[in-house]
Amino acid sequence: MKCPKCQAENREGAKFCDECGGKLELVCSECGKTNRVGAKYCDDCGHDLRKPDETKPLDFTQPQSYTPKHLADKIFANRSAIERSLENVKKAERMFRDMGMDYWLVKAQEALAKL
Ligand SMILES: [Zn+2]
Ligand SMILES: [Zn+2]
Repeated sequence: MKCPKCQAENREGAKFCDECGGKLELVCSECGKTNRVGAKYCDDCGHDLRKPDETKPLDFTQPQSYTPKHLADKIFANRSAIERSLENVKKAERMFRDMGMDYWLVKAQEALAKL
């Protein structure tokens, strides 16, 4: 069996690697049970052990990859709402400026600053 840390070949049934001293066991990320190194599936819950703890690096361009989905949905819903109102306020700002309505122009700019 191979050591998951240093890939050294150890004899079957060994508890520790004779190369690096690392523990020769595979802990199921699903149920926490210890399985023998090289096991493909957890012998307790059947979880696929071939990719142990392979956590993907966070991709910050995709909030879905690091926030729970419902949270990401919320953020996106909010963001598009803010973008929509930003667009509207900008339109209004332009209109007020064109019409020389200074009072409303200031109001629109205030609203913009809050967004
Ligand atoms: Zn080792
Ligand atoms: Zn398991």
